[in-house]
Amino acid sequence: MWRTAFSFIAAALLLAGCGGSGMVPAPDGLLTHAERTDFQETSRHADVMAFMEAVSASPSIHLTTFGETVEGRALPLAVWGAPGASAEAVRSTGKTRVFVFANIHAGEVCGKEAAQMLLRDLSEGRNAAWADSLVLLIAPIYNADGNEHIAYDNRPMQHGPVGGMGQRRNAQGLDLNRDFMKLAAPESRALVQLFRDYDPHVVIDLHTTNGTRHGYHLTYAPPLNPNTPGEMDAELRDHWLPAVSARIAYTDGWATYHYGNVPGAFGEPVTVPRAWYSFDARPRFGTNYAGLRNRFGILSEAYSYVPFEERVLVTKRFVEEVVDYAYQNASRVRALAEHADATSVVGEELSLRATWAPLPEPVEILMGEADSVAHPVTGELMLERVDVLHMEVMPAFVRFTPTETERAPSAYLVPQGLTAVVELLDLHGIDYYAARTTGQPVDVFSIDSVQVDERPFQDRYGQTLFGYYGTLNDADAQNVLVVPVNQPLGRLVFMLLEPRSDDGIVAWAVLPPETYTAHREYPIRRIHGTLPPR
Ligand SMILES: [Zn+2]
Repeated sequence: MWRTAFSFIAAALLLAGCGGSGMVPAPDGLLTHAERTDFQETSRHADVMAFMEAVSASPSIHLTTFGETVEGRALPLAVWGAPGASAEAVRSTGKTRVFVFANIHAGEVCGKEAAQMLLRDLSEGRNAAWADSLVLLIAPIYNADGNEHIAYDNRPMQHGPVGGMGQRRNAQGLDLNRDFMKLAAPESRALVQLFRDYDPHVVIDLHTTNGTRHGYHLTYAPPLNPNTPGEMDAELRDHWLPAVSARIAYTDGWATYHYGNVPGAFGEPVTVPRAWYSFDARPRFGTNYAGLRNRFGILSEAYSYVPFEERVLVTKRFVEEVVDYAYQNASRVRALAEHADATSVVGEELSLRATWAPLPEPVEILMGEADSVAHPVTGELMLERVDVLHMEVMPAFVRFTPTETERAPSAYLVPQGLTAVVELLDLHGIDYYAARTTGQPVDVFSIDSVQVDERPFQDRYGQTLFGYYGTLNDADAQNVLVVPVNQPLGRLVFMLLEPRSDDGIVAWAVLPPETYTAHREYPIRRIHGTLPPR
């Protein structure tokens, strides 16, 4: 138990009067549940709550909650670097705000343990300099209900914790990392409310990956939607993520790279060229969603077949280096986000749908191997990474390019009766106002056909509209809700309300298909020119 030894040494140094660093050891025995069980088990909700309570004995850490799960569990949030836990206290600092959350998929538990260890470090005075320019917001256990559904057969191939882990879904059976656009789960609504209230500039989402047997301890991704602000995308891809990766390679010898898979890992038929492919550009995923809100979303995916303790440690190192970069570049990070907020996308050609695009040149990808080992309790097969690496040069499809675009209008006109749409605008924090249109030309999307998915996904029968825009020059004056695109959430407005968006209200069946078949017209119109007066 290295932790105990460390505390003892730190205490001894302080007693000897040579602890000039201002380090304060944690209360005796303050270990995470994973540490106490030698990484055989992961923390339960009660363990996390108790641990956070204990670290909050430090005056630098303030605790609050940001919502409740379906089953009524509190969602805990620790605030560090601000005079209190409230959003007002955090925002009043004027500092760069970094939000770290874990366990959205509750079988992917290494982030939950790493987040607690980071909190303990902070409570002991480690990384104290970060408070000069940062506030940290840490939520170790987001899918708290899923976490309590511990079973041996959740993620059975993952290398521990052998005591089992929680389930991917929340208590409604929803994948919270597909819910950022439709916001059907109370957890998602609480998290987006946190985005609105605390407005973190940086959002770090901690996962565990599986799939391809590669040679990376951890893979990462910036926001992947092509509508992500270009300067923020460049900062992450050209500077931030490479710097973090280089630093971890130097200090720990662990390889990290953009998230990806090589198709064919499970013997499935392969129809695409052998290459390294990232996952998905749609903003239903949290870090992609953060990008559409003009914030730095960073996905962390520790490699599933690295033993649990090492996964926790590499995740912790990744977060430390991401945060340290945010500290070193705090005003720049803040300025890029604020600049994106202030820049209108009206008139820009934006992406409705996207596909993978390769980097300009093939890159060296580290492929790896894994051994089969028996689970000590169930005897079932697990995989364990072995230290064999194969460098393979291949195309890396780690960005996305539009396959269909539209020019962003100046506003969308939402009929006041579309309450399900209005509710969604409210939940996302989108600005709109009631007005009467003045007979100016409007774009109307005429519908040729509505395709409804044959099977539900996440409880919804997805829809696709086929049709075309035309301009109506003599539209009747109408009482509508005007949703301006020239607002900080303009990119999100576009993705939610465009009829051909692959992740908007049509895709998620927010309105029934009869809405579209009855009048052969998409009910939300758009205008290009001047907005009706407020
Ligand atoms: Zn995940």
